[in-house]
Amino acid sequence: MSDGGHERTFVMIKPDAFGRGLVGEVISRLEERGLKLVGIKVETMPRERAEEHYGEHEDKPFYDDLVDFITSGPVVPMVWEGQDATRQVRQMIGETDPLEAQPGTIRGDFALDLGRNVVHAADHEDEGANEREIGIHFDDDELIDYDQHDAEWLYE
Ligand code: UDP
Repeated sequence: MSDGGHERTFVMIKPDAFGRGLVGEVISRLEERGLKLVGIKVETMPRERAEEHYGEHEDKPFYDDLVDFITSGPVVPMVWEGQDATRQVRQMIGETDPLEAQPGTIRGDFALDLGRNVVHAADHEDEGANEREIGIHFDDDELIDYDQHDAEWLYE
């Protein structure tokens, strides 16, 4: 099995998906793809943490609504591991605006509105994003190490 390119990526199910009963659907898609779940929790995000998470958007007109929304109900922060995990997940969730997201992607299948786009995932074009976002939402001891039993079938 090659271990090249394996990495951890931060993904979060947003309150709209939680409220619509899409938690299992999103997790299933990532599992079925072959990614390995190494961290997960359910919580209502404290405002301070939401502001840290979306700090890069502080000056944008949608920032206040975004922070209000992300703290408005339960979220499911997760860490997934796998070969090229960040790019794989970004491709699976689709474009930020559901109107641009291809059918077959999570946003393209389950969302209509930019401000209610079901899921967050770290940006593969922002090199420090995973480390920063995993650090914001998880302590080291909340991430687990284990053998993925089907790895020999997923990786050459
Ligand atoms: N967003 C919004 N209005 C905008 C742009 C973004 O409400 O004009 C929200 C949208 O929910 C998006 C989030 O802000 O998911 C963060 O934006 P980003 O550009 O980081 O997109 P993402 O990485 O989530 O695809």
